[in-house]
Amino acid sequence: MGKHQYRLFGAILLSVLFTFSVSAKDSTTDILSGYDTQKIAAHTWFIPGPLEGPSPENKGFMNNPAFVITEKSVIVIDPGGTVEAGRGLLKRIQKQTKNPVTHIFNSHIHGDHWLGNQAFVEANKEVKIYAHPKMIEIAKEGEGQVWVDRMLSLTKGASKETVVTFPTDALKDQQEIKIDNITIKAHLNEKAHTLTDAMYEIVEDKVLITGDNAFNNRAPRLDDGSYVGNMAVMDKAMKLPIEIVVPGHGPVGGKEVLENFKEFLSLVYNTTKKEMDNDLEAHEIKPKVIALMHKYKDWTNFEGAIGKLVSVAALEVEENDF
Ligand SMILES: [Zn+2]
Repeated sequence: MGKHQYRLFGAILLSVLFTFSVSAKDSTTDILSGYDTQKIAAHTWFIPGPLEGPSPENKGFMNNPAFVITEKSVIVIDPGGTVEAGRGLLKRIQKQTKNPVTHIFNSHIHGDHWLGNQAFVEANKEVKIYAHPKMIEIAKEGEGQVWVDRMLSLTKGASKETVVTFPTDALKDQQEIKIDNITIKAHLNEKAHTLTDAMYEIVEDKVLITGDNAFNNRAPRLDDGSYVGNMAVMDKAMKLPIEIVVPGHGPVGGKEVLENFKEFLSLVYNTTKKEMDNDLEAHEIKPKVIALMHKYKDWTNFEGAIGKLVSVAALEVEENDF
């Protein structure tokens, strides 16, 4: 090898090493890495977050953030569970558009969906943040701080820069917010996944963002909600003029996401009710429920959640019988 060839070889080697170190650095600092930005309609994108709970590795990123690029703005629905997750999401959005994020919509009180608000206020003080009025009320009564503390403990300190950032604007049921060429229609629920749920229809794109009113491939938590209420909301959602459904957790799909989740809830609730009428106790009912749920037994955290789900169903059956 001549002198020039050595020099060329050295330059190539250096650039390879440099490229490698940059991409390696990216993968450790980008907490959304490994999760694609998926375009699901003409203006709507979403990132399918991890199905496990908050951890030091995911820094509280575990939901399905969505964003809509309008003529001049960006709308974000559920910006993630920590400021760290929200900042990662903002970087992702900036890869698609230079438009500023001007509007945010929060689906419900559980912190994994909305504590990322903070990152978007950092970037734009004028950003409007919409939510169910009850969500704003409960967050301000202390539930917001409870979620910040819970995230800090579950991520072992990785979410330490997160502080509560409340929504700014309370919505009414069926309210339509027009942002440039896009309409967001709010569907508020009384008691479904929680007492604070809003679902968002992106009218022009025929997309419904359900928040945790629907899960896909992951067992839900229903401690703060109602089986009967959540099933009724699935029926309501199935009648909407939509084609694409983004669940709170798990992959995007069509209306079958709603049908399947309603079936999941109905198998737990109606089996529990039937077996309580036969005088069985919750621990005797659990195996009977599991036996009927082959279609769902591989959902993430099914085994961990099903006992609790049956107990919650039993309590609701008792309340409804009373
Ligand atoms: Zn939730």
